[in-house]
Amino acid sequence: MRAYNFSAGPATLPTEVLTQVQEELLDWRGKGVSVMELSHRGPEFMEILATAERDLRALLAIPDHYRVIFCQEGASAHWDMIPLNLLQGRSRADYIETGYWSYRAIEEGRRYCQVNIAASNRRDKFCALPSFEEWRLDPGAAYVHYCSNETIDGLEFNWIPDVGKVPLVVDMSSHFLSRSVPVERFGMIYAGAQKNIGPAGLSLVIIRDDLLRTPAPGTPFLMDYHAQVLANSMLNTPPTFTIWVAGLVFQWIKRQGGLEVMDRQAQQKSELLYTTLDRSGFYRTTVKPADRSRMNIPFHLLDPVLDEVFLREAESRHLLQLRGHRMSGGFRASIYNAMPVAGVHALVDFLEEFERHYG
Ligand SMILES: *Cc1c(COP(=O)(O)O)cnc(C)c1O
Repeated sequence: MRAYNFSAGPATLPTEVLTQVQEELLDWRGKGVSVMELSHRGPEFMEILATAERDLRALLAIPDHYRVIFCQEGASAHWDMIPLNLLQGRSRADYIETGYWSYRAIEEGRRYCQVNIAASNRRDKFCALPSFEEWRLDPGAAYVHYCSNETIDGLEFNWIPDVGKVPLVVDMSSHFLSRSVPVERFGMIYAGAQKNIGPAGLSLVIIRDDLLRTPAPGTPFLMDYHAQVLANSMLNTPPTFTIWVAGLVFQWIKRQGGLEVMDRQAQQKSELLYTTLDRSGFYRTTVKPADRSRMNIPFHLLDPVLDEVFLREAESRHLLQLRGHRMSGGFRASIYNAMPVAGVHALVDFLEEFERHYG
Protein backbone atom coordinates (compact mmCIF):
# COMPACT_ATOMS: atom_id res chain seq x y z
CA MET A 1 0.00 0.00 0.00
CA ARG A 2 1.31 3.47 -0.95
CA ALA A 3 1.06 6.10 1.78
CA TYR A 4 0.51 9.77 0.99
CA ASN A 5 3.92 11.29 1.59
CA PHE A 6 3.95 15.04 2.22
CA SER A 7 7.73 15.27 2.60
CA ALA A 8 9.38 18.46 1.33
CA GLY A 9 12.19 16.40 -0.17
CA PRO A 10 13.22 13.78 -1.01
CA ALA A 11 9.58 13.83 -1.96
CA THR A 12 6.92 11.55 -3.29
CA LEU A 13 7.36 10.26 -6.85
CA PRO A 14 4.61 9.22 -9.26
CA THR A 15 3.61 5.63 -8.49
CA GLU A 16 3.46 4.96 -12.23
CA VAL A 17 7.12 5.93 -12.55
CA LEU A 18 8.18 3.75 -9.61
CA THR A 19 6.32 0.82 -11.10
CA GLN A 20 8.10 1.35 -14.40
CA VAL A 21 11.45 1.48 -12.57
CA GLN A 22 10.55 -1.76 -10.82
CA GLU A 23 9.61 -3.46 -14.07
CA GLU A 24 12.74 -2.36 -15.89
CA LEU A 25 15.19 -2.60 -13.02
CA LEU A 26 16.75 -6.01 -13.62
CA ASP A 27 16.53 -6.04 -17.36
CA TRP A 28 16.42 -2.71 -19.12
CA ARG A 29 14.88 -3.13 -22.57
CA GLY A 30 16.12 -6.66 -23.03
CA LYS A 31 19.77 -5.75 -22.43
CA GLY A 32 19.94 -8.11 -19.46
CA VAL A 33 21.33 -5.39 -17.18
CA SER A 34 19.94 -2.55 -15.12
CA VAL A 35 20.32 1.08 -16.17
CA MET A 36 22.61 1.45 -13.16
CA GLU A 37 25.01 -0.99 -14.77
CA LEU A 38 25.18 0.59 -18.22
CA SER A 39 28.27 2.51 -19.30
CA HIS A 40 27.57 6.22 -19.16
CA ARG A 41 29.39 6.64 -22.47
CA GLY A 42 27.56 3.81 -24.22
CA PRO A 43 24.83 4.43 -26.79
CA GLU A 44 22.05 3.32 -24.42
CA PHE A 45 22.77 5.86 -21.71
CA MET A 46 23.55 8.58 -24.27
CA GLU A 47 20.05 8.01 -25.61
CA ILE A 48 18.54 8.18 -22.10
CA LEU A 49 20.29 11.49 -21.47
CA ALA A 50 19.34 12.94 -24.85
CA THR A 51 15.71 11.90 -24.41
CA ALA A 52 15.54 13.43 -20.93
CA GLU A 53 16.90 16.70 -22.26
CA ARG A 54 14.57 16.67 -25.26
CA ASP A 55 11.52 16.06 -23.07
CA LEU A 56 12.55 18.76 -20.60
CA ARG A 57 13.05 21.21 -23.47
CA ALA A 58 9.61 20.36 -24.84
CA LEU A 59 7.90 20.73 -21.45
CA LEU A 60 9.41 24.13 -20.73
CA ALA A 61 9.70 25.31 -24.35
CA ILE A 62 13.37 26.06 -23.70
CA PRO A 63 14.71 28.31 -26.48
CA ASP A 64 17.65 27.08 -28.56
CA HIS A 65 20.07 29.61 -27.12
CA TYR A 66 19.74 28.05 -23.67
CA ARG A 67 21.78 25.03 -22.59
CA VAL A 68 20.72 22.33 -20.13
CA ILE A 69 23.22 20.86 -17.65
CA PHE A 70 22.60 17.76 -15.56
CA CYS A 71 24.71 18.34 -12.44
CA GLN A 72 25.54 15.82 -9.73
CA GLU A 73 25.65 18.44 -7.02
CA GLY A 74 22.55 19.40 -5.05
CA ALA A 75 21.00 22.83 -5.47
CA SER A 76 23.25 24.16 -2.67
CA ALA A 77 26.40 23.78 -4.74
CA HIS A 78 25.11 26.39 -7.16
CA TRP A 79 25.42 29.04 -4.46
CA ASP A 80 29.18 28.69 -5.12
CA MET A 81 29.03 27.86 -8.79
CA ILE A 82 26.92 30.92 -9.63
CA PRO A 83 29.42 33.52 -8.37
CA LEU A 84 32.37 31.50 -9.66
CA ASN A 85 30.90 31.38 -13.17
CA LEU A 86 28.86 34.55 -13.43
CA LEU A 87 30.82 37.26 -11.64
CA GLN A 88 33.19 37.52 -14.61
CA GLY A 89 35.51 39.92 -12.84
CA ARG A 90 32.76 42.00 -11.26
CA SER A 91 32.75 42.45 -7.50
CA ARG A 92 29.04 42.93 -6.76
CA ALA A 93 25.86 40.92 -7.05
CA ASP A 94 22.25 41.52 -6.00
CA TYR A 95 20.44 39.01 -3.83
CA ILE A 96 16.80 39.01 -2.77
CA GLU A 97 16.14 37.65 0.69
CA THR A 98 12.75 36.00 1.09
CA GLY A 99 13.33 33.09 3.45
CA TYR A 100 15.64 30.30 4.51
CA TRP A 101 16.93 29.12 1.14
CA SER A 102 17.55 32.53 -0.40
CA TYR A 103 19.41 33.42 2.79
CA ARG A 104 21.64 30.37 2.49
CA ALA A 105 22.56 31.52 -1.04
CA ILE A 106 23.42 34.96 0.34
CA GLU A 107 25.70 33.54 3.02
CA GLU A 108 27.55 31.49 0.44
CA GLY A 109 27.69 34.35 -2.09
CA ARG A 110 29.51 36.48 0.48
CA ARG A 111 32.58 34.28 0.10
CA TYR A 112 33.01 35.59 -3.44
CA CYS A 113 31.62 39.07 -3.76
CA GLN A 114 30.02 42.07 -2.18
CA VAL A 115 26.44 40.95 -1.71
CA ASN A 116 23.82 43.65 -2.03
CA ILE A 117 20.60 42.53 -0.39
CA ALA A 118 18.40 44.46 -2.78
CA ALA A 119 15.20 43.50 -0.96
CA SER A 120 14.34 41.55 2.15
CA ASN A 121 11.26 40.48 4.04
CA ARG A 122 13.18 39.65 7.22
CA ARG A 123 11.38 42.42 9.11
CA ASP A 124 8.09 40.84 8.08
CA LYS A 125 9.35 37.54 9.51
CA PHE A 126 9.36 36.06 5.98
CA CYS A 127 5.56 36.13 5.85
CA ALA A 128 5.14 38.24 2.69
CA LEU A 129 7.31 38.86 -0.38
CA PRO A 130 8.97 42.27 -0.65
CA SER A 131 7.03 44.17 -3.32
CA PHE A 132 9.02 45.02 -6.43
CA GLU A 133 8.81 48.79 -5.75
CA GLU A 134 10.99 48.20 -2.68
CA TRP A 135 13.78 46.46 -4.57
CA ARG A 136 16.99 48.52 -4.67
CA LEU A 137 18.80 46.95 -7.59
CA ASP A 138 22.40 47.81 -8.41
CA PRO A 139 22.89 48.41 -12.16
CA GLY A 140 26.53 47.30 -11.77
CA ALA A 141 25.60 43.91 -10.29
CA ALA A 142 26.89 40.82 -12.09
CA TYR A 143 23.49 39.15 -11.60
CA VAL A 144 20.33 39.18 -9.48
CA HIS A 145 19.67 36.02 -7.47
CA TYR A 146 16.36 35.01 -5.94
CA CYS A 147 14.45 31.92 -4.90
CA SER A 148 11.03 31.70 -6.53
CA ASN A 149 9.56 29.22 -4.06
CA GLU A 150 10.70 29.20 -0.44
CA THR A 151 10.30 25.56 0.53
CA ILE A 152 10.46 26.11 4.29
CA ASP A 153 8.72 29.47 4.68
CA GLY A 154 5.97 28.60 2.18
CA LEU A 155 6.22 31.69 -0.08
CA GLU A 156 6.00 31.62 -3.85
CA PHE A 157 6.52 34.24 -6.53
CA ASN A 158 3.74 34.15 -9.09
CA TRP A 159 5.41 37.05 -10.91
CA ILE A 160 8.82 37.47 -12.49
CA PRO A 161 10.86 40.54 -11.59
CA ASP A 162 11.98 42.72 -14.48
CA VAL A 163 15.62 43.45 -13.72
CA GLY A 164 16.60 44.92 -17.09
CA LYS A 165 19.84 43.79 -18.65
CA VAL A 166 21.36 42.22 -15.52
CA PRO A 167 21.03 38.40 -15.73
CA LEU A 168 18.29 37.06 -13.49
CA VAL A 169 19.27 33.87 -11.67
CA VAL A 170 16.59 31.82 -9.94
CA ASP A 171 16.48 28.87 -7.58
CA MET A 172 13.31 27.04 -8.69
CA SER A 173 14.07 23.84 -6.76
CA SER A 174 10.73 23.40 -5.09
CA HIS A 175 8.28 24.46 -7.79
CA PHE A 176 10.15 23.55 -10.97
CA LEU A 177 7.77 22.08 -13.57
CA SER A 178 4.66 23.04 -11.60
CA ARG A 179 3.77 25.70 -14.20
CA SER A 180 5.16 26.94 -17.47
CA VAL A 181 7.71 29.75 -17.26
CA PRO A 182 9.03 32.11 -19.92
CA VAL A 183 12.62 30.82 -19.84
CA GLU A 184 13.86 33.79 -21.88
CA ARG A 185 13.18 36.09 -18.92
CA PHE A 186 16.04 34.40 -17.03
CA GLY A 187 19.78 34.25 -17.39
CA MET A 188 19.84 31.00 -15.47
CA ILE A 189 17.37 28.67 -13.77
CA TYR A 190 18.48 25.91 -11.42
CA ALA A 191 16.65 23.28 -9.42
CA GLY A 192 17.55 20.31 -7.23
CA ALA A 193 15.90 17.07 -8.28
CA GLN A 194 14.46 15.64 -5.08
CA LYS A 195 11.50 18.01 -4.85
CA ASN A 196 9.71 17.91 -8.18
CA ILE A 197 12.04 16.16 -10.64
CA GLY A 198 13.14 12.76 -9.37
CA PRO A 199 15.36 11.09 -6.76
CA ALA A 200 18.11 13.01 -4.96
CA GLY A 201 21.56 13.23 -6.49
CA LEU A 202 20.96 15.61 -9.36
CA SER A 203 20.29 19.25 -10.09
CA LEU A 204 19.38 20.89 -13.37
CA VAL A 205 20.71 24.12 -14.83
CA ILE A 206 19.16 25.99 -17.75
CA ILE A 207 21.55 28.74 -18.77
CA ARG A 208 21.67 31.29 -21.58
CA ASP A 209 24.50 30.80 -24.07
CA ASP A 210 26.20 34.15 -23.57
CA LEU A 211 26.69 33.51 -19.83
CA LEU A 212 28.89 30.52 -20.51
CA ARG A 213 32.40 31.89 -20.08
CA THR A 214 35.63 30.83 -18.43
CA PRO A 215 34.95 30.89 -14.67
CA ALA A 216 37.04 32.60 -11.99
CA PRO A 217 40.63 31.36 -11.62
CA GLY A 218 40.83 28.42 -9.23
CA THR A 219 37.31 27.14 -9.97
CA PRO A 220 37.19 23.34 -9.54
CA PHE A 221 36.81 21.79 -12.97
CA LEU A 222 33.48 20.11 -12.13
CA MET A 223 32.03 23.49 -11.17
CA ASP A 224 32.68 25.05 -14.57
CA TYR A 225 29.31 25.44 -16.33
CA HIS A 226 30.89 26.07 -19.71
CA ALA A 227 33.05 22.96 -19.48
CA GLN A 228 30.00 20.92 -18.40
CA VAL A 229 28.07 22.13 -21.44
CA LEU A 230 30.97 21.29 -23.76
CA ALA A 231 31.21 17.82 -22.17
CA ASN A 232 27.43 17.22 -22.45
CA SER A 233 27.17 17.04 -18.62
CA MET A 234 29.77 14.27 -18.58
CA LEU A 235 33.00 15.75 -17.30
CA ASN A 236 32.92 12.73 -15.04
CA THR A 237 30.49 9.87 -14.42
CA PRO A 238 27.02 11.39 -14.12
CA PRO A 239 24.33 10.01 -11.73
CA THR A 240 22.97 7.71 -14.40
CA PHE A 241 20.15 6.12 -12.41
CA THR A 242 18.83 9.45 -11.15
CA ILE A 243 18.92 10.94 -14.65
CA TRP A 244 17.01 7.95 -15.98
CA VAL A 245 14.28 8.31 -13.34
CA ALA A 246 14.11 12.09 -13.89
CA GLY A 247 13.58 11.36 -17.60
CA LEU A 248 10.74 8.98 -16.72
CA VAL A 249 9.17 11.74 -14.61
CA PHE A 250 9.35 14.15 -17.59
CA GLN A 251 7.57 11.53 -19.72
CA TRP A 252 4.98 11.06 -16.99
CA ILE A 253 4.31 14.81 -16.93
CA LYS A 254 3.92 14.80 -20.71
CA ARG A 255 1.41 11.95 -20.48
CA GLN A 256 -0.58 13.84 -17.85
CA GLY A 257 -0.94 16.73 -20.29
CA GLY A 258 2.18 18.80 -19.57
CA LEU A 259 2.75 21.82 -17.39
CA GLU A 260 -0.71 23.24 -18.02
CA VAL A 261 -2.19 20.26 -16.20
CA MET A 262 0.45 20.41 -13.43
CA ASP A 263 -0.42 24.08 -13.01
CA ARG A 264 -4.16 23.45 -12.83
CA GLN A 265 -3.73 20.64 -10.32
CA ALA A 266 -1.37 22.70 -8.16
CA GLN A 267 -4.04 25.38 -8.06
CA GLN A 268 -6.78 22.93 -7.24
CA LYS A 269 -4.81 21.05 -4.55
CA SER A 270 -3.48 24.14 -2.80
CA GLU A 271 -6.88 25.87 -2.83
CA LEU A 272 -8.46 22.82 -1.25
CA LEU A 273 -5.94 22.82 1.57
CA TYR A 274 -5.83 26.58 2.18
CA THR A 275 -9.63 26.81 2.16
CA THR A 276 -9.83 24.16 4.86
CA LEU A 277 -7.14 25.84 6.95
CA ASP A 278 -8.68 29.31 6.54
CA ARG A 279 -12.15 28.13 7.45
CA SER A 280 -10.97 26.64 10.71
CA GLY A 281 -10.42 28.39 14.00
CA PHE A 282 -8.18 25.55 15.07
CA TYR A 283 -5.30 25.80 12.61
CA ARG A 284 -3.38 28.88 11.59
CA THR A 285 -1.17 29.85 8.66
CA THR A 286 1.27 32.73 8.60
CA VAL A 287 1.94 33.63 4.96
CA LYS A 288 0.09 36.51 3.32
CA PRO A 289 -2.51 34.92 1.00
CA ALA A 290 -1.20 36.56 -2.20
CA ASP A 291 2.29 35.13 -1.60
CA ARG A 292 1.35 31.64 -0.52
CA SER A 293 3.16 28.71 -2.06
CA ARG A 294 1.12 26.17 -3.95
CA MET A 295 3.76 23.51 -3.25
CA ASN A 296 4.79 23.86 0.41
CA ILE A 297 2.08 24.72 2.89
CA PRO A 298 3.18 25.34 6.48
CA PHE A 299 0.52 25.48 9.17
CA HIS A 300 0.23 25.30 12.93
CA LEU A 301 -2.23 24.23 15.56
CA LEU A 302 -3.36 27.17 17.66
CA ASP A 303 -2.38 25.02 20.62
CA PRO A 304 0.92 23.21 19.93
CA VAL A 305 0.37 20.87 22.86
CA LEU A 306 -1.44 18.57 20.43
CA ASP A 307 1.36 18.55 17.82
CA GLU A 308 2.62 15.05 18.57
CA VAL A 309 -0.89 13.62 18.76
CA PHE A 310 -1.64 15.19 15.37
CA LEU A 311 1.42 13.62 13.78
CA ARG A 312 0.74 10.21 15.32
CA GLU A 313 -2.87 10.15 14.17
CA ALA A 314 -1.91 11.38 10.69
CA GLU A 315 0.65 8.63 10.40
CA SER A 316 -1.84 5.97 11.43
CA ARG A 317 -3.85 7.07 8.37
CA HIS A 318 -0.82 6.81 6.10
CA LEU A 319 -0.42 10.59 5.88
CA LEU A 320 3.33 10.85 6.30
CA GLN A 321 6.06 13.43 6.94
CA LEU A 322 3.84 16.33 7.92
CA ARG A 323 6.22 17.58 10.60
CA GLY A 324 7.26 21.18 9.97
CA HIS A 325 10.88 22.12 9.38
CA ARG A 326 12.94 22.33 12.55
CA MET A 327 13.30 26.09 11.94
CA SER A 328 9.56 26.78 12.00
CA GLY A 329 7.92 23.94 13.97
CA GLY A 330 4.29 23.04 13.42
CA PHE A 331 3.49 21.23 10.21
CA ARG A 332 4.12 21.45 6.53
CA ALA A 333 2.35 19.70 3.69
CA SER A 334 4.39 19.57 0.50
CA ILE A 335 2.12 18.82 -2.42
CA TYR A 336 4.31 18.57 -5.48
CA ASN A 337 3.27 17.33 -8.93
CA ALA A 338 3.34 13.69 -7.86
CA MET A 339 0.90 14.18 -4.97
CA PRO A 340 -2.47 13.02 -6.26
CA VAL A 341 -5.56 15.15 -5.65
CA ALA A 342 -6.87 12.19 -3.62
CA GLY A 343 -3.94 12.63 -1.23
CA VAL A 344 -4.94 16.20 -0.52
CA HIS A 345 -8.56 15.12 -0.04
CA ALA A 346 -7.38 12.54 2.50
CA LEU A 347 -5.39 15.21 4.33
CA VAL A 348 -8.28 17.66 4.34
CA ASP A 349 -10.64 14.97 5.70
CA PHE A 350 -8.15 14.24 8.46
CA LEU A 351 -7.72 17.94 9.32
CA GLU A 352 -11.47 18.36 9.68
CA GLU A 353 -11.87 15.23 11.73
CA PHE A 354 -8.99 16.12 14.02
CA GLU A 355 -10.54 19.52 14.59
CA ARG A 356 -13.96 18.03 15.33
CA HIS A 357 -12.42 15.70 17.85
CA TYR A 358 -10.00 18.05 19.63
CA GLY A 359 -11.21 21.51 18.69
C1 LIG B 1 15.95 21.77 -0.98
C2 LIG B 1 16.34 23.09 -1.49
C3 LIG B 1 17.70 23.46 -1.64
C4 LIG B 1 18.84 22.56 -1.21
O1 LIG B 1 18.91 21.45 -2.03
P1 LIG B 1 20.10 20.38 -1.86
O2 LIG B 1 19.83 19.46 -3.00
O3 LIG B 1 19.93 19.73 -0.52
O4 LIG B 1 21.39 21.09 -1.98
C5 LIG B 1 17.98 24.70 -2.16
N1 LIG B 1 17.00 25.56 -2.52
C6 LIG B 1 15.69 25.23 -2.39
C7 LIG B 1 14.65 26.22 -2.79
C8 LIG B 1 15.33 23.99 -1.86
O5 LIG B 1 14.03 23.67 -1.74
